[in-house]
Amino acid sequence: MFERVYPTKIILPMKMHYGVPAVPAVKEGDYVRVGQCVGVPEKGSFSVPVHSGISGRVSDISDIRLPNGIQTPAVTIVSDMKRTRLDSMKPRSGFKLSASEAIGIIRDAGICGMGGEGIPTAAKLKRARTETVKDFLVNCLQSEPYSTSDLVAITEYPDYVVLGASACARSVGASRCIFLISENRKEQRIALANSIERIKVDFKDLEYDIKLFRERFPQGYYRLVARALYGKNLALGETIEKSCSAVLFNCSTMLACWEALSDNIPMMSRIVSVTGDASGGHNMLVPIGTPVSELLINAQDIKNGSDRIVWGNCLTGIEIKDPENTPVVKTTSVISVVRRAEVPRTPCIHCGLCSECCPMNLSPNTIYEMLNQGLKQKAAEEGARECISCGSCSYVCPAGINLTTAIASFAGEGRVIEVNSLLDNSSAEERMIEDFKAYYVGETSLLEDYTDGDEDVRKKSPDSIMLPFEKDKEV
Ligand code: SF4
Ligand code: SF4
Repeated sequence: MFERVYPTKIILPMKMHYGVPAVPAVKEGDYVRVGQCVGVPEKGSFSVPVHSGISGRVSDISDIRLPNGIQTPAVTIVSDMKRTRLDSMKPRSGFKLSASEAIGIIRDAGICGMGGEGIPTAAKLKRARTETVKDFLVNCLQSEPYSTSDLVAITEYPDYVVLGASACARSVGASRCIFLISENRKEQRIALANSIERIKVDFKDLEYDIKLFRERFPQGYYRLVARALYGKNLALGETIEKSCSAVLFNCSTMLACWEALSDNIPMMSRIVSVTGDASGGHNMLVPIGTPVSELLINAQDIKNGSDRIVWGNCLTGIEIKDPENTPVVKTTSVISVVRRAEVPRTPCIHCGLCSECCPMNLSPNTIYEMLNQGLKQKAAEEGARECISCGSCSYVCPAGINLTTAIASFAGEGRVIEVNSLLDNSSAEERMIEDFKAYYVGETSLLEDYTDGDEDVRKKSPDSIMLPFEKDKEV
């Protein structure tokens, strides 16, 4: 179950994804409708477009700073509360698409990973296609404390999650579609299993499986998944595609992909948990860009002004200082509301708890000391770059030492290189630097008329994949 939030305004940052910011495609005073593209990738850039989830007038275009320090242009739209949609946002019918075109739709719908760093989904699909992966993995684990937005997406829209995963699996040429879920999530397991039963008849070339994981945090990071499923310890920079012949996507991202492929809906809303030890727990379907303050108003059990409002989960998130001007972005799965507890700060008491809980088997206290003393080389040799920023070590530390920030920022440089492999593994034609079509801007949906072309050629296309609803549909 989720509540719907209809905000009075949205603030749409042009950078909510891994890559360069989009460029505003509207100007102050313009009227925009639900689904309209308001930001386009700059010509030749690695980026994704941005769409409005409300109708109303553009009131401001200026730079904002997000809690994570990113400065980006943002388009503010004041709602007219009419929710006037683009005419083109309706279920697709009678179309045929090659796998490449399906990936193109996902690109033009502005979809990026909704569970992590916001890597453009089309780029990841293209890399998986280039690597000819066998397994298409869907991360339904959502192990962060209190967060349940992905689980609600599965409960409410299981068919969309499974259809999105099936279509994307076909588009990369995978032969198995595997859903990863915690053993304790019985309701979601049943929903997925039932949905697979309904859908598999139309995807006979795909094998389906549900793999159960222990309930613990963290679980869904790709290196942990590679270890758990394939027994492989990926080195830094090693990709799961190359080493395990698998690719991993978040389940909410799959839902968004199916909305784009089937219903012509770009990425403009998402489910967000508003939860923590100072809140009873809410899930809200909100237009992307909704100010956090409007979520808090809807969560009526949040009364204590001294609680900490955190952008992200309570272990790794960042405290929000200005909820009115901090928006939900494409990667915001949770807004945490936690009691402010002052942990007394003391020197390390060598209890060993941080090492015990580290999922990467590091010694956070040792690495922290090395970094404090400027011994970066030694910290790297100790494995500091393996840190996956899970926040567990800081959480358990009885001395109140913020180990994660120091270690994770040092490890961050390695992660940039790893993500950059998305750019390097594609041919020039395949890279995400194609020009976006002009009709994506203005009042026409980016997705409209995408399927123009020679249908007979597509029929014979070896990478066409059938949609389940109509036998002559391909995607
Ligand atoms: S934040 Fe890094 S060092 Fe700390 S427990 Fe997680 S992986 Fe280990
Ligand atoms: S948990 Fe804190 S006090 Fe215990 S060993 Fe680690 S850094 Fe030291």
